[in-house]
Amino acid sequence: MSLRDRFNAEIAGLLAEDSWLVAEEGYDAGKNLAYESLFCLASGAMGNRGSHEEGGVKKTLPANYVHGVFDRSEAFMRELCNTPDWAKLRISYACEPIGVEDGEPLDYLRVLDMRRGLLAKRYVNRAADGRETLVETLKFLSRAHPRCGAFRVYLRPLNYEGLLELENIIDATVTNFMDMPRFRVRHLETLEVSALSPDGCYVGSQTRDFGLKLGTGARAAARGPRGENRIKSRRFRPFGETACEFMDADIRRGETLIIDKFACVCTERDFAAPRARVELELEALADRGFMAELAAHMAEYEALWAMADLELDGDADLQHALRFNIFHLMSTPAPADPRTNIGAKLIHGEEYGGHAFWDTELFVLPFFNYVFPRVARNLVAYRCLLLDKARENAALNGYLGAKYPWESADTGDEECPAWTVCPDGSCYRCYVADYEHHVTAAVAYGMRQYALITGDKDFLDEMGLEVLLETARFWASRMVCREREDRCEILRVTGPDEWHEPVDNNVYTNGLARWNILCALELLADCQARNPEASRRLWEKVGLTPEELSGWRERALKLHTGARGGLIEQFDGYFALPDAVITEWDHNGMPLMPKAFLGKPGGGRCILKQADVLMLLFLLPGDYDGETQRINFDYYEQRTLHRSSLSPGVHCIMGLRVGDGRRAYAYLERSAYVDLRNNQGNTREGLHAASAGITWQCVTLGYCGMSVGEDGELDFKPRLPARWSRVRYRIVWRGAPLDVTVTRGDVRIQTAGNPLRYRVNGEARVSE
Ligand code: BGC
Repeated sequence: MSLRDRFNAEIAGLLAEDSWLVAEEGYDAGKNLAYESLFCLASGAMGNRGSHEEGGVKKTLPANYVHGVFDRSEAFMRELCNTPDWAKLRISYACEPIGVEDGEPLDYLRVLDMRRGLLAKRYVNRAADGRETLVETLKFLSRAHPRCGAFRVYLRPLNYEGLLELENIIDATVTNFMDMPRFRVRHLETLEVSALSPDGCYVGSQTRDFGLKLGTGARAAARGPRGENRIKSRRFRPFGETACEFMDADIRRGETLIIDKFACVCTERDFAAPRARVELELEALADRGFMAELAAHMAEYEALWAMADLELDGDADLQHALRFNIFHLMSTPAPADPRTNIGAKLIHGEEYGGHAFWDTELFVLPFFNYVFPRVARNLVAYRCLLLDKARENAALNGYLGAKYPWESADTGDEECPAWTVCPDGSCYRCYVADYEHHVTAAVAYGMRQYALITGDKDFLDEMGLEVLLETARFWASRMVCREREDRCEILRVTGPDEWHEPVDNNVYTNGLARWNILCALELLADCQARNPEASRRLWEKVGLTPEELSGWRERALKLHTGARGGLIEQFDGYFALPDAVITEWDHNGMPLMPKAFLGKPGGGRCILKQADVLMLLFLLPGDYDGETQRINFDYYEQRTLHRSSLSPGVHCIMGLRVGDGRRAYAYLERSAYVDLRNNQGNTREGLHAASAGITWQCVTLGYCGMSVGEDGELDFKPRLPARWSRVRYRIVWRGAPLDVTVTRGDVRIQTAGNPLRYRVNGEARVSE
């Protein structure tokens, strides 16, 4: 029997076929937290973790995060706040609660429908007294009205009847890091717990630091099989910071009671009076009804998938995992809000506080550049809006120009904490923010890639180029130049490989710094030629002089960036470190630490946490010939442990590029299944945004070999593995959708509009 056919007819009629579902079969409380991340829904305004609606679960971290709602209070950094939990509806019969951990959950099944953005569950609750209740739920966060969420509970008493007690709850006692006492922080204060009219409940809150107000409201209704109201009484009952609407409902043996709960969360970021807006949206939602809202929501997902689906023939598991990554990636960002970004754990968990890292520009952005360019524009515009803060940050650290924070939230301040707490309570000084400066070049790289892929030069003229120039200025001031040796250096930095910190002349950082300066100069010249007025404004606004620009160029060209045509030393002194290569791999094909180094500190050995020199070659392939890329791939691959989920995908693509695909597939799988198989062991903290993004890149840029040449033409060098017969996907090209079909050795492009020129293995082609 297919998964969907195990549900009632209404749910079965809505769910997609099995290949689009992620299933949790059989209840295992130990896996709750990971499933809460995997089954988190995101609407573009908020994210709501997949906790159980009926509550009463011991191991759970229910959370509702809202884009742009950050607070610091006693935390080490501003964090995305856990806002009041609206996704609860307690159900009891004769004072006995009905839930997955109340009694026995028989035949338990929960599925995430990635195609439609739905979460469905079914089980039979067997109580200690032998009563049995079939419980089914269907939940979604509306993409049609992204501040709203809804769920329906189908409740059928199989061998009893009587009066059911329902509690429509909004729980404002929530904190961040609820199950980690050392990190637990209360970010919101409750201003109001009240009833809504004509029914429902409401909680008004504000963040503790900035006093940003938000409102959470919820309404519930219960009907019998013929649509008749089954609520016998309804009473609003506040319990401290928990708003509760208590209801009695009539239930009959063998008949299904349908309970709908609607919720809405609005903040002062968008509305001056959140409560009034919540009331309005809830009323409209209740008027439209569950099914109509669901239909509008599903139509939005249909449109999203029409753009984002990637069909891969030849590996059904990988196809499933690709869709899983795409689903969460495309669901997360706010489609029209450049004040927010994408956290390293998406909006699905608390690790890294919802902060944007370099993960956004280098790992996640390419997917949006090609598939959802309007979202991509927001992601790059976010950095432009925070340029003044980056200028301040540079000045604060004694540099010129703009230095972007390693971790960025809403204000643009550095949010990477200087101290963290170890499990034993001791404090640990964290130097990442002090030394990991390469994010600034990643921001510039993101601007350039966005403009190159989307062709949006206006964006560069209006705001992007200013960022490129100010980041170039930062790098010029970050270097020290030794006149006698005629060479410039960047001292005391940490590259992507965080196990060696700080080092001198990290070649990745130097290479990207040089690229940043030269690219800014080239784009400024291009702007001058195309749009003299915009260029004049920029010269004036940024305060440029010809002397300063030629000084940048000189410094960039003198910057030490590793040997050409040979092995590149990751940083000064790397080759002198004790050396050993990886000779053993685990059952996932992932490398194990060479025995010689077990128990030794990270900095004193050659083994890397993640791609570093290879990251440079990955981003700037044109600067390094094929032989240099191959030599360095051979060398560094044997010394990289991939302790960051960012690393395997880069190795997949680089391996393919240098013609060494031996382990490329294992790297792709490691990246694709990182959360579905919890292979980093931390899925409970949220999903890995960067590996979701690089997984998409592995298929499209890696195996399909897609790139955009400097001439602005699409270029393909397909290298599909033997087991794949075909890959199909869609991108937006110069404003219009374009379909790409890659088979072994060939690439076909179909466009609705004018024929398009592209290249396959260097040969010119024209689209159909
Ligand atoms: C990695 C960084 C990454 C961060 C957030 C760290 O473990 O080393 O490169 O930016 O996680 O994903």
